[in-house]
Amino acid sequence: MDCIFCKIANGEIPVRFVYEDDLVVAFDDANPQAPVHCLVIPKKHIPTSLDLDAADNALIGHMFQTANKIARERNVADRGFRMVMNCNREAGQSVFHIHLHVLGGRLLEWPPG
Ligand code: 5GP
Ligand code: ZN
Repeated sequence: MDCIFCKIANGEIPVRFVYEDDLVVAFDDANPQAPVHCLVIPKKHIPTSLDLDAADNALIGHMFQTANKIARERNVADRGFRMVMNCNREAGQSVFHIHLHVLGGRLLEWPPG
């Protein structure tokens, strides 16, 4: 399967991991939109949030726990940060392997563009 995030998760494309365990990896976004911009991805290939099933519930919780850990480590937890998962084209999803964006370190406007 030609999926760039599977290749990052399995080490085929070398990337410095901010965090790794059996279920997820996290790394800095190549095109950061804020001083802190990490991506938390499952090692398992799941194309979009619509493809999640009940068996993935713990995995999704673990992705959020990982995002919290990164936010604390990068000192944006108390200031405020945003977790975003885009789904399909109009939301701007460009990589079809789910990923949780962790954005912080500047004032994040709402609503998003
Ligand atoms: P999406 O638009 O699907 O929500 O987010 C995809 C994100 O992945 C983008 O922010 C983009 O900059 C990032 N990205 C795409 N390819 C790579 C890559 O090869 N390495 C890293 N570190 N980030 C990537
Ligand atoms: Zn994948």
